[in-house]
Amino acid sequence: MKVDAKTEIYGLIGYPVKHTYSPPMHNAAFNGLGINAVYLPFEVKPENLKDMLSYAKAVGVRGLNVTIPHKENVLRFLDEIDTEASLIKAVNTIVNKNGAFIGYNTDGKGFVSSLKEDFGMTPKGKNFFILGAGGASRAISFSLALSGAARIVLVDAIREKAIKLARSLARNTSCEAIALKREGRTMKEMILNSHVLVNATPCGMKPRDPRVIDPALLHEGLYVTDVIYNPGMTRLLKDAKKRGARVSNGSGMLLHQGVIAFKLWTGKKAPAKAMRKALDKLLK
Ligand code: NAP
Repeated sequence: MKVDAKTEIYGLIGYPVKHTYSPPMHNAAFNGLGINAVYLPFEVKPENLKDMLSYAKAVGVRGLNVTIPHKENVLRFLDEIDTEASLIKAVNTIVNKNGAFIGYNTDGKGFVSSLKEDFGMTPKGKNFFILGAGGASRAISFSLALSGAARIVLVDAIREKAIKLARSLARNTSCEAIALKREGRTMKEMILNSHVLVNATPCGMKPRDPRVIDPALLHEGLYVTDVIYNPGMTRLLKDAKKRGARVSNGSGMLLHQGVIAFKLWTGKKAPAKAMRKALDKLLK
């Protein structure tokens, strides 16, 4: 990679960002297409977010990804926010359009693309059961609902969060949205009537994490996907596989949110294979 006076700057803002897989993925894409650009991680403390965005604008940064803890706070510093990102109330991608910073959310769309790639499935008319009602769940739920999902059932350790998200989905989309109690009796019936079960909680990232769901509630024919990509096989996915379900992890969502962001930044179709290769190398 050569860096010269014409090199365009892209990057990720978060705190911390040391764990990120995005730089190798996007730099592989720029290299693959021969674009003179570089993607860098920027560790930005919450109190420096506003200054960072002013600085990024001043030096003409072409595009940014946004990660924890800035996805929600960043909205108030942007010039424009795309409709889906406004509904999700979170931005993970910023595009510099003629000096204006426009916010998008590609997490949910990335999830929808991964469903297609991993399971050959589109959300239209399907029922989803989602564990977690935090940031990842909001993005996934809205993208599924806007892509025609018939029903989304939400369960969160904090029930009020599931209720709030279900209300927001019902108000803004035509998808049926239900918030359930974690230990409720209807869990089994709702999962039996679902096509896909999604873990959108961080539970499963650490080896000693408890089970996110009782394996007895999983069944053959169910599609089970975890937003976690490291480890690649979480306890949930192992349980689901044993019960005869089809499984996939969060690496597809990670890849495709990047593929969609790349297209928004450059207007070019991202080299998904090169990006996947860079990602797989890190996930090994
Ligand atoms: P978050 O905002 O903290 O939301 C997670 C929610 O799940 C919280 O409300 C949490 O409640 C709840 N929860 C935790 N354990 C639970 C359980 N066993 N049952 C039900 N609810 C439970 O986190 P997030 O930002 O949405 O991130 C969730 C995961 O998605 C993380 O692992 C993140 O790395 C991953 N992610 C992956 C991608 C990708 O591209 N693959 C993209 C974005 C995020 P408490 O607060 O009470 O724990």
